Amino acid sequence: MTFVFVSGDLALDFAGTRKWRRSAPEELLGTPADAARWAVAAGVLTAPPALSVSDLTALLVLREQVYGLTTAALAGHTLPARDLRALNAAAAAAPPRVTLTAGGIRRAGDATAIGAAVAIAAVELLGGPEITSVRECALEECTRLFVDRSRAGNRAWCGMEECGNRVKAAAYRARRGAGRSGVGRSGVDQTGVGQTGVGQAGGIAVSASRQAMRS
Ligand SMILES: [Zn+2]
Repeated sequence: MTFVFVSGDLALDFAGTRKWRRSAPEELLGTPADAARWAVAAGVLTAPPALSVSDLTALLVLREQVYGLTTAALAGHTLPARDLRALNAAAAAAPPRVTLTAGGIRRAGDATAIGAAVAIAAVELLGGPEITSVRECALEECTRLFVDRSRAGNRAWCGMEECGNRVKAAAYRARRGAGRSGVGRSGVDQTGVGQTGVGQAGGIAVSASRQAMRS
């Protein structure tokens, strides 16, 4: 499994390792080895550390705290005090040890160091100016968060590959479907049965094209 880093922020990329949270959650960090691979892919560590199941559990707890705190901030709610304490505790731990070697920069550490790197990024994000630029992907089922650094401030999707193209393909299908329904509309009207279908196709086309405009 390959990880994607589309959020523009380490803490949000980490939160994004649990996908489709509202509909059919998909866990990308199912094993300690997955979490070790993520830490390397994210650039937190140079080599995958040996993580235990309890290391993984602790990292997943932190991940959910980061996600919960961020969504609370986005909703304008007071940050849950318990999660905030846990985040600050994780951020106070030693981050990865960084050394310059003949082979380049080496970043070494354990699960606590991974957690510290993520927690520090979350603290900077939640307390910094970019929190107002954090958005959720415009694809309805996608719960990935990202920092919108587009000049116009109108980035809609976490990524084109996973979500943008899906929305555009749906918009295309809806346009074609709506066109066909439109032709047959006068015939359908008499039965009344197909009317709902026509209305739904029109609705999809409208909402999809609105999303396409935001891209
Ligand atoms: Zn998305």
